[in-house]
Amino acid sequence: MFIKDYIKDVYNAVRSLLTGMKTTGKYFIRPGEIITQQYPENREQLHLPERFKGEVVMIHDENNEHACTGCTACELACPNATIKIITKFDITPEGKKKKALDTFVYHLELCTLCNLCIIACPTDAIKMAQTFEHSVYDRSQLTKKLNQPGSKIKEGVE
Ligand code: SF4
Ligand code: SF4
Repeated sequence: MFIKDYIKDVYNAVRSLLTGMKTTGKYFIRPGEIITQQYPENREQLHLPERFKGEVVMIHDENNEHACTGCTACELACPNATIKIITKFDITPEGKKKKALDTFVYHLELCTLCNLCIIACPTDAIKMAQTFEHSVYDRSQLTKKLNQPGSKIKEGVE
């Protein structure tokens, strides 16, 4: 009985080994079918799915202009107070006061990447970026100011 069980165990072990080797051999011959990615070695060639969401960013053009009016719709849409819009008043050429964005505060450490703020924005001023390497030693670094230094609103955006 002992010998019989022993032979059976050896047979199962060899069979299991060959099953694993078959898979290894398959991917060795056809490396294009490998699903597991060798991160971070493949950082340069990394392909992220189109719908992958990494963090909220504000879009700025080559003139350092954005489309944020400071309306706070994104802040109101956010379910967990990730966004804080601080506004100021600019003076128009006509001498009138006009509300404008002062600081867009974004707490990445709170963000669930739900996309609700992006949907709520009436001027498409913000979008999801595909960045994902967010590890920091000091969590205060995850609180970001999304409007770039010296940026201003594009002309004609209301
Ligand atoms: S993606 Fe969701 S959780 Fe993150 S800031 Fe926008 S609304 Fe808030
Ligand atoms: S990002 Fe869009 S929704 Fe948020 S304050 Fe600016 S204009 Fe309003």
